[in-house]
Amino acid sequence: MSVELVVFDFDGTLAYRPGMWSQCLLDVFDSQRPRHGVTIGDLRSQLRDGFPWHQPETPHTQIRSANDWWRMFGELIDRSYLAVGAEIEELESLRDGVRSHFCDASRFHLYPDVVEAMQELRTAGVPVVILSNHVPELVAITSELGLDGYVDKVFTSALIGYEKPHAEAFGIACRGFEPSTAWMIGDNPTADKRGAEDAGMHGVLVRHPDGDHHNVLAAVQAVLA
Ligand SMILES: [Mg+2]
Repeated sequence: MSVELVVFDFDGTLAYRPGMWSQCLLDVFDSQRPRHGVTIGDLRSQLRDGFPWHQPETPHTQIRSANDWWRMFGELIDRSYLAVGAEIEELESLRDGVRSHFCDASRFHLYPDVVEAMQELRTAGVPVVILSNHVPELVAITSELGLDGYVDKVFTSALIGYEKPHAEAFGIACRGFEPSTAWMIGDNPTADKRGAEDAGMHGVLVRHPDGDHHNVLAAVQAVLA
């Protein structure tokens, strides 16, 4: 089977960010209001729902810019902080803090097998894109992680208006390619693997107890074999 395109998920597949959103909100609260007594569990329970990727059936194509996205997302940040005791007058600076903290690329780390996998794809001449349910700044984050030389395009749900597993997200990532020649590699059985298969692509699950391959390098080697 000829491989014309490989599509990667980002978080949990190519890179990880310790503590993700809960830790981010807690760190920002710590920096702005010491001795608040709020735990990561308190924040985690506020963040169980309300992210755009929790409603993948609902497109948000009306959002056109990073600022629009953060304005929409700010409602969840405000609600979460108010629920743990923040004051209304603190919210603006907490929101700004969350944006700059979360978009700080130095807090993301590539998994150790990723560069070798990317090099194998470059050697094979296979185009590579990233398709992620993520913040608008994902392009800058992947660039700072050193992926520019390996990735042809980065699609983030924040700016394309569709969250995986919405079929349109995969359609946008595969534009110009026949879906049956494209492989999606990701760590989420629903958003990545099943979503890709529903869109006519091949889905490969990695870094998951039920994964097809244990990591990205093994998956890439199998796809290229
Ligand atoms: Mg993921």
